[in-house]
Amino acid sequence: MQACEQVSDRAASDNAEAEVARVMQICNACRYCEGFCAVFPAMTRRIEFAKADTHYLANLCHNCGSCLHACQYAPPHEFVLNVPQAMARLRGKTYTDYAWPACMGAAYRHAGGSLLLALLASLVLFFLVPSGNLFERVDPPGNFFALFPHGALVWLFGTVFALAALALGVGVGRFWRDVSPGAPNAAAATEATHAILTLKYLDGGHGEGCNNEDDAFSLWRRNFHHLTFYGFLLCFAATLAATFYHYVLGIHAPYALTSLPVLLGTVGGLGLVTGPAGQLWCNLRRHPLHGDTAQRPLDRGFMLLLLLTSASGLALLAWRDTAAMGVLLVVHLGAVMAFFLTLPYGKFAHGIYRSAALLKWAIEKCQASRLKLGGD
Ligand code: SF4
Ligand code: SF4
Repeated sequence: MQACEQVSDRAASDNAEAEVARVMQICNACRYCEGFCAVFPAMTRRIEFAKADTHYLANLCHNCGSCLHACQYAPPHEFVLNVPQAMARLRGKTYTDYAWPACMGAAYRHAGGSLLLALLASLVLFFLVPSGNLFERVDPPGNFFALFPHGALVWLFGTVFALAALALGVGVGRFWRDVSPGAPNAAAATEATHAILTLKYLDGGHGEGCNNEDDAFSLWRRNFHHLTFYGFLLCFAATLAATFYHYVLGIHAPYALTSLPVLLGTVGGLGLVTGPAGQLWCNLRRHPLHGDTAQRPLDRGFMLLLLLTSASGLALLAWRDTAAMGVLLVVHLGAVMAFFLTLPYGKFAHGIYRSAALLKWAIEKCQASRLKLGGD
């Protein structure tokens, strides 16, 4: 009980870097978990953990939980060692500290509220600006551009996406410069890409998966992550295919159910429904000592936004020839716009920061260790 209160006290602490440095000092003397993930071999290359090192290690951690369930110093031990929780809290600080512009770090700290605000503002915007009656069947049926002109949508979404990508790129660039020991090379890029595409470190280090709600291993979290990730990529590919149809082939929407944009979007949309729904299910059952409970609004809000985006997209496809199309289109465009607006200041950022950390690790492990203490 006393140990749990100490954990809670640490939750109130702002000093997330010091806590990661503390747990890494203990782990560096123990090294039992050295084969679990990239965090521990990267740790063995250090004796001291400066701020940049702690942020790097925190973003290498995939929060699989293995090292908590294996640890002899985990609560209720007096060391109160909880690596996944310390790493998760510091990741939250990474996104805030490196946010660009700096004032937008507050949006991350209040992620639930900022996501809701972005969604409501986007829905109101699209309810107010259609160029036709939202509640009537358009002519020809399924023609979205009868309500929102194609050029205006391209300009609006293109501008917001470019600004979001710039903000995220500047933030991750600063993180990279703080922690990078060298330039990327082809071998490191290949290894990092493999780790990203296979979610290698969500296998618990033994291939049987994460500890989610208890000591049992489970691959569900990894599988649902895959469905979300590849569903997102397919939806992005559907947008690129539709752009190619429109500008290169001169074929304009609505597209046939058997066309490439619709097929890619449908399969991607199904992945983006099942993946986030499954991740939400895992999150609701998650062991309370895993991760940072203060970030639950961020995690769950992001999953719900992805669900709304994909479900409204599939509903739009199913009922695009009816009078319901206008309202469904507003909900879908509003959800996509909220996703774009919160892209650099929400959960989406974790994938980019973690990818940067994985690339740094792939570079670092090829270099000779200055300490000669680890197994590399
Ligand atoms: S988490 Fe615990 S068992 Fe694993 S290396 Fe650290 S101290 Fe050792
Ligand atoms: S929670 Fe998993 S990924 Fe994170 S440090 Fe522990 S073993 Fe590594």
